[in-house]
Amino acid sequence: MAEFTNPYAEADPFVEAHFDCLNCGGKLWEYAIQRAMVCEDCRALFRSEDVYADQVAETA
Ligand SMILES: [Zn+2]
Repeated sequence: MAEFTNPYAEADPFVEAHFDCLNCGGKLWEYAIQRAMVCEDCRALFRSEDVYADQVAETA
């Protein structure tokens, strides 16, 4: 049987984002449809642009 990429995997609205929660430092998951991220630990919801801005500022 041929290997193929599951199209539903790409359609999954959650993608693992390499950002830390601004509240608790937990792992954030990006919710692509709403351009938002949710923390897997405290369930805090952030706008992606706010998370990007915060973490870029920290590493600059
Ligand atoms: Zn959190």
